[in-house]
Amino acid sequence: MDTFRSSPPPPATPVLSPEALHACFLGPYGENDTLLEKLVVEFLRDHVYWRRNFHPEDPPAIPTAAAQHPAYQALEANMRRELHSLSAALKRSVPFHSPRYIGHMASDLLLPGLAAQLLTLPYNPNNVCEDAAPVTVELEVKVGLQLARMLGYPADPDVPGCAFGHLTSGGTVANYQALRLALALKAFPVALRAAGVGVAIEDVRGLADDWQAFNVGVAPGIALVEGWQRWLATLSPEEAQRWRSRVQAERIETLGLTGFFSRHPTLRVPRVYAPVTAHYSWSKGLKLLGLGRAQLSLLPERDMRLDADALDEALDECRRTRQPVLMAVGVLGTTEHGMIDPIDRIVAARDRSQAQGLGFSVHVDAAWGGYLATMFRNPDGSLRSRAEVAQGLQSFPSECVHAAFAAVGRTDSVTVDPHKLGYLPYGAGAFVCRDNRAMTLLSEEADYVFNGLEAEDYMTRFRQLGQYIPEGSKAGASAAAVYVMHQVLPLDHARFGQLPRQTVAAAEAFRRGAERVASELSDVARVCVPFEPDSNLVCLALNLAGNRDIGRANRFVRTLHDDLRCDPSRPLQVKEFFGSMTTLRPASLGQERLARILAALDLDPETMGAGDDHVVILRHTLMNPYLIDAHNGISYIDRYFDYLASRIRTLARAS
Ligand SMILES: *Cc1c(COP(=O)(O)O)cnc(C)c1O
Repeated sequence: MDTFRSSPPPPATPVLSPEALHACFLGPYGENDTLLEKLVVEFLRDHVYWRRNFHPEDPPAIPTAAAQHPAYQALEANMRRELHSLSAALKRSVPFHSPRYIGHMASDLLLPGLAAQLLTLPYNPNNVCEDAAPVTVELEVKVGLQLARMLGYPADPDVPGCAFGHLTSGGTVANYQALRLALALKAFPVALRAAGVGVAIEDVRGLADDWQAFNVGVAPGIALVEGWQRWLATLSPEEAQRWRSRVQAERIETLGLTGFFSRHPTLRVPRVYAPVTAHYSWSKGLKLLGLGRAQLSLLPERDMRLDADALDEALDECRRTRQPVLMAVGVLGTTEHGMIDPIDRIVAARDRSQAQGLGFSVHVDAAWGGYLATMFRNPDGSLRSRAEVAQGLQSFPSECVHAAFAAVGRTDSVTVDPHKLGYLPYGAGAFVCRDNRAMTLLSEEADYVFNGLEAEDYMTRFRQLGQYIPEGSKAGASAAAVYVMHQVLPLDHARFGQLPRQTVAAAEAFRRGAERVASELSDVARVCVPFEPDSNLVCLALNLAGNRDIGRANRFVRTLHDDLRCDPSRPLQVKEFFGSMTTLRPASLGQERLARILAALDLDPETMGAGDDHVVILRHTLMNPYLIDAHNGISYIDRYFDYLASRIRTLARAS
């Protein structure tokens, strides 16, 4: 039953025009203040009427004269005082909304999402289950389908292998969910074997040993889950229960890691492969899961992207030494550098490895870059060619980038953060898996919350959301925000895709600006873009003319960054711009690339010492929609470079 009345977006909705985009954000100047105010007041009143009309015969519980009592007034005064001081303190917040903010992955908020969230808050739905959120839990499941479609996963819930996705507090928990699901799937065939299910199911009988069962891979693993459930359905309820308990007793979720691996002494604890620049949530996830940080193997990068040859070699080595692999992680938009890993090569490595008996999951950490996928989707859901995506842009997408996005549909799961490039309030992350049938392995079956029935229908089943997610109680208002935003701006190139497109165009303008400033400053400094950006993050490497020492260059960049970073002790307005900082390391660039960058900066590789085994660079996230203000003829990118040039000249004189 579809409890939420909403029509699919009209298919003929034209390309989102710049004029329509003007209605999307509150705006750097608060330009859309009346629009937001109108929406907030309208829907707040609507909420109040809903309360009143629930049982209008109940008289008001708070006396109508209550506000005249001194104690009431004292409390109100107290509340006001605290709110005023909160509001005053919040003026020290980071001005994410401003086009002068090009630091971290944050920007203005999309009005449809913000309004939906504010509208929903006073209803306070709890998306742990349908009983506590009759409306918004369904919206969350639909958000999963919307994201699945954007990523190229099957998104029709009437089809058995449809994807499933849900929201999390952020990318960190979504990545953790990916690990949890991958481990459950990996260990389940071993449990089936150990419980003796082979006597009844041929596919289980076909698993020669623990090694084979542990490494069948995702699709065969899901087929085993399916076969097991089909077989259970043929048994009497008592018999089915007996078998279920037997398998349950052998599962890694029951035994724990210690119990499971001591029962299967030929198996080693599996490993996770991720690129060296992987987000630290991966380290957290492995610790949390109890696999341990030592099981996270960091692969080198080549030209700032995961080195797929190194992955191939590592997998060969694993096969030789009988080292199981849980997952290979590719990053779609690295946090530090915005680079896109070769997802196509990772998927190919998985297929090859699985055919040779070493299966594992492929997860895409697209916490940052997930919404870039909208640029690659037609309104009918089909993939756009590289030439189509590239129209009107200078160099995006490179062939590698297009191939990576085209391959996402063949991975096993994805993390996307609506609170990053989706321009929505925190905390809205999302986990999406390609085939919902794997999710049954995570089901908690806590009967006091849930009805305990394994429902057949996709929507009915996943409305019992709390069964499957790492969290318990969670904000339905967040789900409402993401859903409404996706409805207003569908996730294809013509609608939502216009936003990331604009960010990529801004990054290309930034790239050109960097060249201009490099030649203008050639008498005092060396400035270069150290590696070609894959998307909308652009870094700058800098050095003072005449300096050859890496340590000194790093101090110079840190001094520049001191003026660009948030400083709560000083008034916000004294800041001209906000930027961030990161490092370049040989492990991400490769020695050869690093040598070329050092040469471009006129730095002596010999000065790469113990304390300075890296090069400090400036990092710019170009996601603000108003970086290029055509209406006023202002480019904040040009202004930033003018500012940077004058800072560099001042520092050069002082040095
Ligand atoms: C931001 C980010 C994360 C973590 O997401 P949170 O929402 O901060 O928890 C994970 N991976 C990547 C690539 C990210 O950019």
